[in-house]
Amino acid sequence: MKRFPIFVLLLLFPCLSFAQEGHSHANGRAIEFPDVPGFFSLTCDLHIHSVFSDGDVWPNVRVQESQRDGLDCMAVTEHLEYQPHKDDIPHPDRNRAFELATRTAGSSDLIVIHGSEITRSLPFGHANTIFITDSNKLVLESAEAAYEEAQRQGGFTFMNHPNWTAQRKDGVARVEEMNISLIEKGQIQGIEVVNDITYSDEALEIALKYNLAIIGTSDIHNLIDWQFDVPGGGHRPVTIVFAKERTQAGIKEALLARRTVAWYYDTLIGREEHVMPLVESSLNVTESGYTGDTSILKVVISNTSESEFTLRNTSTFRFHDRADILMLPPHHSTEVLVKTGQRVESVTLSFDVLNVVTAPDTHPTLTFEIKP
Ligand SMILES: [Zn+2]
Ligand SMILES: [Zn+2]
Repeated sequence: MKRFPIFVLLLLFPCLSFAQEGHSHANGRAIEFPDVPGFFSLTCDLHIHSVFSDGDVWPNVRVQESQRDGLDCMAVTEHLEYQPHKDDIPHPDRNRAFELATRTAGSSDLIVIHGSEITRSLPFGHANTIFITDSNKLVLESAEAAYEEAQRQGGFTFMNHPNWTAQRKDGVARVEEMNISLIEKGQIQGIEVVNDITYSDEALEIALKYNLAIIGTSDIHNLIDWQFDVPGGGHRPVTIVFAKERTQAGIKEALLARRTVAWYYDTLIGREEHVMPLVESSLNVTESGYTGDTSILKVVISNTSESEFTLRNTSTFRFHDRADILMLPPHHSTEVLVKTGQRVESVTLSFDVLNVVTAPDTHPTLTFEIKP
């Protein structure tokens, strides 16, 4: 192909040059969120299966998928009790999947966490326990004994898919007396608000009522690319963990302190004190000024996160180039024209952040103070 001088290419592809501004992707699919003041924003998938329970692939593929997705950590969480491949792949050692995944990760940046899925019918349902030391010791007749052993090993345990229609026909997450007693004993510390392709407002209510960590996971069994249409621009759900250090101990401390946000499609779900620093680190006004001799203010907002944001204007000013909804694509700068009536020295723009959920049907407010 004939080589064009760079300025000609810029004329041909003005949008391309603009879109890549501030774009730091090592590869197109890596999931990247900015750090927040005082904490690293670590992306984690804490619910993953391989052929060592009912998944379709060997554990090394799980590690490779996580690396392609640029995750900071993944947990290996095979079912302890459900072993449909055991005649083809006998494995008396329930730690084996974790060992193979750890070996594949080697000295790479990916943190691999040792977990297991305690798999029971209701009232217990399914739960993942992570940061454990020996999965074999969790294979126990009594569910209560399994939760106790998980706690004894230092496990962080969370309820899985409490909205699962195989166990809840109406898709409504609930807690039973038994779950509440486990929460009170510190043997349940989190809950999946997002699992695979489902989201649960009721699980979010339970998380807020009982002070549980808000978790979002893939619960992947087949391939991440197929299940979440990665070639079409999709992504797996993740839990963003706000950790003081980028280590297993740092992640565990953050989970125990409930400093998490779940990310699902373009929705961020978390407590206001955790999600708002992430929103404020992600969205920044990078440019502002009046256009020509008008009183129309051009404002450029950059989004350095992986998520698209949807804002609804609640300011006293209206826009010149759109109605009240402002979409901010990921890793992109977006221009908006604001009619301020007359030229002013400072402007407050306020928005409802519609893609952020802090409680069912509740969206936080974001303001920008702009000095043109
Ligand atoms: Zn499960
Ligand atoms: Zn599972």
